[in-house]
Formats: sequence, C-alpha cells, structure tokens
Amino acid sequence: MTSLSAIAQERGIRYFLISFTDLFGVQRSKLVPTAAIDSMATSGAGFAGFATWLDMTPADADIFAIPDPNSLFPLPWQPDVAWMPADLYMNGEPVAQTPRLVLKRVLSQAEALGYRVKTGVECEYFLLSADGEQLSDPRDRASKPCYDQQALMRRFDIIAEICDAMLAMGWGAYQNDHEDANGQFEMNWTYADALITADRHAFFKYMVKAIAEKHGFRATFMPKPFPHLTGNGCHTHLSVWDLAGNTNLFEDPQGELGLSPLAYQFIGGVLHSAEALCAFTNPTVNSYKRINGTVTLSGATWSPNTISYTGNNRTHTIRIPEPGRFEFRLPDGAANPYLLPAALIASGLDGIKHKRDPGKRYDNNTYTDPLPLGTVRQLPVNLLDALRCLEANTILPESFGTDLTHAYLKLKHREWNDYCSRISPWETENTLDC
Ligand code: ADP
Ligand code: MG
Ligand code: MG
Ligand code: MG
Ligand code: MG
Repeated sequence: MTSLSAIAQERGIRYFLISFTDLFGVQRSKLVPTAAIDSMATSGAGFAGFATWLDMTPADADIFAIPDPNSLFPLPWQPDVAWMPADLYMNGEPVAQTPRLVLKRVLSQAEALGYRVKTGVECEYFLLSADGEQLSDPRDRASKPCYDQQALMRRFDIIAEICDAMLAMGWGAYQNDHEDANGQFEMNWTYADALITADRHAFFKYMVKAIAEKHGFRATFMPKPFPHLTGNGCHTHLSVWDLAGNTNLFEDPQGELGLSPLAYQFIGGVLHSAEALCAFTNPTVNSYKRINGTVTLSGATWSPNTISYTGNNRTHTIRIPEPGRFEFRLPDGAANPYLLPAALIASGLDGIKHKRDPGKRYDNNTYTDPLPLGTVRQLPVNLLDALRCLEANTILPESFGTDLTHAYLKLKHREWNDYCSRISPWETENTLDC
C-alpha cells in the first residue's frame, strides 16, 4: 500500500487532520505534518480521552486515533491539508465507545447475514451571522420560503463552493435548495455504502461550517434554532443490497409500494425500536422541540410525531417515496453521523432476524388529520423520555456492545440534569406569582 507521505508528495499535502468523532458528535483532531504522518498512520495520534465526550477519566491511558487509509479528504478550501477519519485504540485494543467502530461493528453484523447497506442523508442547515444571533440574510423573510429562488441565489457563492467541492470529490452532488425555514438550505449528494456516507456526512458538517466561516457567516445544524421556523432534519434513506452491491434486496415489483418482504421486516424492526432510536437520532435537549413541534410559519413541521409508516407522504416517521428504499424522517442535525446509521441498521437487522411486522400503513396527514389517540405509539417527548426508552431496549446494546450504550447514557443523563438545573424564563413567567 502506498504510504501517506508518498500520497502527500503526489497530491501536494503538507498537513493531515487526524480526526475522530466522539459520542456527542464533536470532531477532535490532531494536525500532523507530513514529515510525521507515516509513523502516526500505524501507531495513531495520541489524545487524552477524558478531555472529550467518551466517558473516560484522567487515570485512563492515552487513546490513539488511527486514520483510515481508505478515507482521505483533501480540504477543498485548503487543499494542502487532508482530513482523515480515525478509529480509537487504547493499549492496542479498540475503544468500544468509538462511534465509527460501532458503525463498523453493526455493518459487519449485516455482512455476516449477507447484506450490504447503502444510505443517503439530507443534512439541513441554517446560515447565520458570525455571532449566531440572526439569519445571515436579513431579506430572507418570506412566510413560505421553501425553494425561494431569490434567497438561494443571494447565497450562491457559498452554496456553489460547497457543491463544486462535492462534485470534485466524486460524491455525485445533484441539487441544492433553500429549505422550508428562512435562512435554511439543503444540499444533496448520492447515496453510497453506509460507512462512506457516514464519513462524508461528518466531513460535510465540517466543510459547511468552515466555508460559511470563510465567507463571514456561521452555519448551524442545530435541530430547532428558532421556535417559529422549521428545524434542521437529517432524513436518512436506506436500502439493503447483496454483498456484491448489484441487487437491491428491498426492491420487489410485486410488493406493496415496490418494497420486498425483507424491507418490511427491516421497517418493522425500526418501528419496534423507534423510541430508543430517538436517543441517538435526536440526541439533544433541543431535538424534542423539532419532533412533536407545533406547526411553523410555513404550515408544516416536516418532522414526525407518530411511530408509523406511509407511502409518499411527509408526515410519518417512515416514508416510502419510491420502490427499493425507505426514508427515515426522525433524525435531526445533531445526530452523530456514525451512531445514526449504526442505530438504524441495528434495529432493522433485528426486524429481519425476528421477521417483525410493521403493521398497517397509514396515509393520513398527521398534522391536520391525526390518528385517534392509541392507534399508534407516539415519539418520546423529551431527551429524558428517549434515554429511558433506550435503557429499556435490549436490541441496540446487544448490537453495539454494552460499553457504548452505558457510556452514552451516563453522559446524556448528565447533560439532561445540567439542563434541568437551569431556571428558564418560562418558569419565572408561570410560577413567580404562584
Ligand atoms: P427528499 O427531499 O425527497 O426526501 P432528497 O433528494 O433530498 O429526497 O434525498 C434523497 C436521498 O436518498 C439522496 O441522498 C439519495 O441519493 C438517497 N437515495 C436514493 N435512492 C436510494 C437508495 N436506494 N438507497 C439509499 N439511499 C437512496
Ligand atoms: Mg500536552
Ligand atoms: Mg431533500
Ligand atoms: Mg429537507
Ligand atoms: Mg427527505
């Protein structure tokens, strides 16, 4: 295999960003000069794990981030630097709570069953002023701003720079638009193997933030930055293929909406674990202001509130837009790019193993015409609710290994408790005169 220093020489790379994503989705890096990269590539870049969100202590040994040689992203806006996602090791052993390793673990479980999973993500984001206080574009004020041509083109410089970068990297970028909230955008690229999409997802978030900063703005993927506007989703599309990647096993011309029995079992598994999945797909306090949200200015929340599936209808947790795939509409912009697909795939494989029945398809508009109470399960109402659902779920910890789930729950409970210890203006308004 060609050494990284040789690749650096060939491609004019001076520095490598050896990057890992921690449990809270934060990207942590060491910037390594090419002169030192070959030894780092095998022994890893050292980090004090407790200083990141990995549930470690200062008494733990150092962790080492070993970059994946198959995954190298020269920064389109700084091409003499290359970003490389890394996996974590301690004392020579894999660190069990590494999100990227957990995704690999779930993918090898799929592979053992003869499946290759492909995913595509739709990462919505807002462009704000540099201080994060207001939208970057004060003229972006339409009450129904989805696909707003004028507002989209006022940000052409940024959008085209990001899209050109995706094209140059061979991601198959195919469209960009102004989304349903003022100041909100979405850029789409073509689905691929789940690990490739996860690395691209992580890199996309870094790239959008970096290019926005370069232009004097700030990009946010926060699930619900403004209460009256649609939040940032991260819809995830998924299909299961044979190991060669030639045959889509979800596709069946005879099946309902063109989906095979295997696809419905997978969907059955996702619906079965949906409440627990929220702990990963909607991982922050703020996430629950997007799902279960009230209808926004534009007339829709674009996010689900019931655990149900449907055809080409954007009001349920799972939408089947066309034969051969489904769309999972729960995840938001705070979802960890690795834990999101890991949790989704783990629950789907459980559905296949147990031939889970997804139940009836619902075609109602859940915003204007909700199902009678008790017909389908409702999503968790806040982070604590979701964490308790994860605690009650055995499927995800079994697939992930208990270490990650344990560490995750511990840190997330702390986050919830920290949030609850603050006294909000709402409390004062409603309780001062009690
Ligand atoms: P929408 O806004 O209608 O939900 P988008 O076009 O924004 O859809 O995003 C669709 C995503 O689904 C893209 O990333 C696309 O590549 C992906 N996709 C399409 N077909 C499949 C498939 N068979 N498996 C997984 N992902 C798919
Ligand atoms: Mg030091
Ligand atoms: Mg879309
Ligand atoms: Mg969208
Ligand atoms: Mg979508």
